[in-house]
Amino acid sequence: MVLGDDGVHDGAGGKLHALDAEVTRCRACPRLVAWREEVGRVKRAAFADEEYWARPVPGFGPEDARLLVLGLAPAAHGGNRTGRMFTGDRAGDVLFRALYDIGLASAPLPRAADDGLRLHGTRLTSPVHCAPPANKPTPQERDTCRHWLVEELTLLRPTVRAVVVLGAFGWQAALPAFAAAGWEVPRPRPAFGHGARVRLPARDGGAPLDVFGCYHVSQRNTFTGRLTPEMLRGVLREASREAGVRAG
Ligand code: SF4
Repeated sequence: MVLGDDGVHDGAGGKLHALDAEVTRCRACPRLVAWREEVGRVKRAAFADEEYWARPVPGFGPEDARLLVLGLAPAAHGGNRTGRMFTGDRAGDVLFRALYDIGLASAPLPRAADDGLRLHGTRLTSPVHCAPPANKPTPQERDTCRHWLVEELTLLRPTVRAVVVLGAFGWQAALPAFAAAGWEVPRPRPAFGHGARVRLPARDGGAPLDVFGCYHVSQRNTFTGRLTPEMLRGVLREASREAGVRAG
């Protein structure tokens, strides 16, 4: 595997790259397969002349990321349209702006999967890879999709040191995946909150994982001021510092 300056794989031989490709072919959840494809056929009027991705959306970012940012699932007309995490909707715009502001993204506004935007030491992913109706996967769909995140975390273990989890649903979905990938999750499980922080030791004596809670970048939170750009930058900055990410 050949890594560029910002850690983006230049070759196609990386295991994470292969996993990303495999995710896009998954059809394990009948309800979500039907929904993502219907959204891609019907489309939103503003995107009527676009070809929707309408498949599972893989993680985005370098194979040697030290920081992971986790949402819950792609948006119907965002990631499900463009094929890239947090790309194509307002929530994603807020997140990329914050990543750019603190030096973790090469551009402030994502346009499309082929816009050339790069992340520095940071990877975006989600516990559920298909857009769900009303943004709510069922518990069964969440559990069915978990193995993809576990495999992604397992491949990232040599480098990943911190995770920012956006929102309580993502937090609940991610903790079992952290446990399955080799970190100890305390019982009772740590509660989600904006600014919550928990260090998970590795069961094999390897590097611990620092998990940070952050309100989701949904419009409901950002329009109402529940999550301000300053709050978002604050959590991302602290997590990236803890992870030892070298900003671009
Ligand atoms: S949500 Fe996950 S497990 Fe279900 S079809 Fe999509 S990628 Fe596959």
